[in-house]
Amino acid sequence: MAETFLVGVDLGGTTIKLAFINLDGEIKHKWEIPTNKKDNTIVVDIAKAIDQKVLELNLSKDQLAGIGMGAPGPVELETGLIYSAVNLGWENYPLKDKLERETNLPVIIDNDANIAALGEMWKGAGNKAKNLVCVTLGTGVGGGIIANGEIIHGVLGAGGEIGHITSIPEGGAPCNCGKTGCLETIASATGIVRMAVEKLKEDGVNSPLKNLYSQSENITAKDVFDSARNGDQLALDVIETMSYHLGLALANLANGLNPEKIVIGGGVSKGADLFLAKVKAYFQKYSFPTVAKGADIKVATLGNDAGVIGGAWLVKSKILNNVPTA
Ligand code: ZN
Repeated sequence: MAETFLVGVDLGGTTIKLAFINLDGEIKHKWEIPTNKKDNTIVVDIAKAIDQKVLELNLSKDQLAGIGMGAPGPVELETGLIYSAVNLGWENYPLKDKLERETNLPVIIDNDANIAALGEMWKGAGNKAKNLVCVTLGTGVGGGIIANGEIIHGVLGAGGEIGHITSIPEGGAPCNCGKTGCLETIASATGIVRMAVEKLKEDGVNSPLKNLYSQSENITAKDVFDSARNGDQLALDVIETMSYHLGLALANLANGLNPEKIVIGGGVSKGADLFLAKVKAYFQKYSFPTVAKGADIKVATLGNDAGVIGGAWLVKSKILNNVPTA
């Protein structure tokens, strides 16, 4: 019998990642296409990319069990409607319907951070934990919460928005969501840079980052981490603040969920050597003792593959398991 593949798709603002994945969650083929926002050809581009790959690999299209896809923005689960994806210019966009029509395959859509959480649960640092919190520290802070093996979506699809937990109730930095003081303004790459730059502008500051900043008017979270590794107190202070707020937010969240695993992913997790132990210490301090005992905080292991693997998991668990096999 010909092998069955699960199609994982991770729709981002600049690239679309695609993969054919086997039933054990192993990526067999993976590739990327650019996200063409201008002409809104995204759905057609994905359908074409899949058809071309099927031809190229000499497969038959009925070897594909379905498509599981992550999209940036809150999703209406039953209908696969994207309420709003500002990056892509979508408002109430019927993504599932359009993609099913274009590909003739069953499609299941979820928010990209949720899908990444499912990927980490299935094949990554989650190690099959059925109660798991995944927090993605990138340009922003995304999150996915899994309880009893299922993503928590909430009433409007905005469950798991860990990045918008309020960390600074009054006088915090403005967030993209319209609030101020969100965790995202502190624990994202953007937040780390913002805090470092604010400190660099203070009088009498002595930090190697000062030269870098005055030369380029621009530093990155990586610069802050590198400087901290060289013992720069300013950078270490920024990491201390970031670790405190991340540990506190995760502890408060965990007190309501009692998760087995907390997985920290995204580009900022490359600085985990600097912050993971601190985050764990603050988490211990601020979580209910039984919750603290149960939760293991880990760095994500799948990197950019988490999305496509999570998409494949959705096909396996929601499409394959609901369709009687002949
Ligand atoms: Zn926010």
